Amino acid sequence: MSEIDVQKYIDSNPVIQDVVDLKPVFWINDKRGKFQEVKDKVPYNYLDIKDAEERLDRFRPFIKENFDDTVELDGLIESPITKIEKFQADEAERYGLDIPGTLYLKRDDLLPISATIKARGAIYEVLVHAEKVALENGLLSGFNDDYSKFSSKEFQDFFSNQKVVVATTGNLGISVGVMAAKLGFTAIVHMSTEAKQWKKDYLRGNGVHVIEHDTNFTEAVAAGRKAAEEDPASYFVDDENSKYLFLGYTTAASRLKKQLTEAGVVVDEDHPLFVYLPCGVGGSPGGITLGLKHAFGDNVHAFFAEPTHVPSLMLGLLTEEYSKVSVYDFGIDGKTVMDGLAVPRTSNFVSIVMENFFNGGYTVEENEATKTLTRLVDTENIPLEPAAVAGLPGPAKLFGSEAGKKYLEQTGIAAKAENITHIAWATGGSMVPEADKQAFYELGVE
Ligand SMILES: *Cc1c(COP(=O)(O)O)cnc(C)c1O
Repeated sequence: MSEIDVQKYIDSNPVIQDVVDLKPVFWINDKRGKFQEVKDKVPYNYLDIKDAEERLDRFRPFIKENFDDTVELDGLIESPITKIEKFQADEAERYGLDIPGTLYLKRDDLLPISATIKARGAIYEVLVHAEKVALENGLLSGFNDDYSKFSSKEFQDFFSNQKVVVATTGNLGISVGVMAAKLGFTAIVHMSTEAKQWKKDYLRGNGVHVIEHDTNFTEAVAAGRKAAEEDPASYFVDDENSKYLFLGYTTAASRLKKQLTEAGVVVDEDHPLFVYLPCGVGGSPGGITLGLKHAFGDNVHAFFAEPTHVPSLMLGLLTEEYSKVSVYDFGIDGKTVMDGLAVPRTSNFVSIVMENFFNGGYTVEENEATKTLTRLVDTENIPLEPAAVAGLPGPAKLFGSEAGKKYLEQTGIAAKAENITHIAWATGGSMVPEADKQAFYELGVE
């Protein structure tokens, strides 16, 4: 689409004017349905989630043997939750607001193997592919076979003739590249000029082939896809269209449910759960939310968070054009310090599926993100990467915006707001080199 009629969309939905003006918005998705009524309208159901969970379980012996940081959890790639009372109090004071309920941080910044939320979806997709190839070629006898065989010379030699290809500015490449290389695949990561040097160095240090392009992200993706399509021994991980990435993310939900139970946190009609998820193409917030709805039904309220400069999912949903519109079509520059979210166009299938489930979304200004990053370090000593803090302003936006207050009234939650458990999903940070961590911190010092 080259030229679109922006005014037409604004006339049909005035919120779009604020989005175009880069004003922070909090928006409720009126198209969402009751979980029991919409769950069968989408192409993925509970059996798909179970299937993904079981696949990850089958691979646990292999994962445990090859990645030291998964030994403690017996080959499970999972992160803890941390209560962040000091940050919550500071946030209430900063906004002059009452923020009732209990705020937790989901620590995907500490996930094993690649320490970002991508470890959930991307590693899963590589495992799906490896299992399929192994079964098709008679290396595995079936799902009950011993998956530690994936470490054997026989498997490694076989996979070395096959390629796994991805194009990325960063985190997706690390998760795909490291797991593919560990399985013995020839792992190839195409990177655009924006990609950080430390990420290229890290990948090369882990046996991944990095191909650098002198072009922007979109062109690097096109080059990667083309190279993979021309080669029958290549498998291309497609961030925007991948069902496996999405299904990998869904498995977070049952694990979170277990963690909350262990922490004595009740989720029911009188004790709602509010989750705030940073959003790029939409795969990670979408997959996690679908899983959470299966785990908690309508008692979980899920909100996605995007930069005011990159509101791609929000525009896709507000216009009902989904991936057909990009932020550039609306004169928005797509430039943000929250680089993990810098995706100008949403995923087509994710946005269509999630229209049924998301409770809403909001946008975060650049200076709000950097200040939040710094205050989280000051109050809790947790350094995240900029994209990963976008969930943190969620509660303040819920209680501080007209749309949020109205939602709380209409759902009857306002009267029991003290019982809310809030979870801001921290999506990455611990791999960032010290010098970059320091630079991020300084950006938000007031
Ligand atoms: C990719 C990413 C996200 C968003 O995930 P999507 O699937 O693109 O929506 C959020 N935070 C970080 C750190 C990421 O790398």
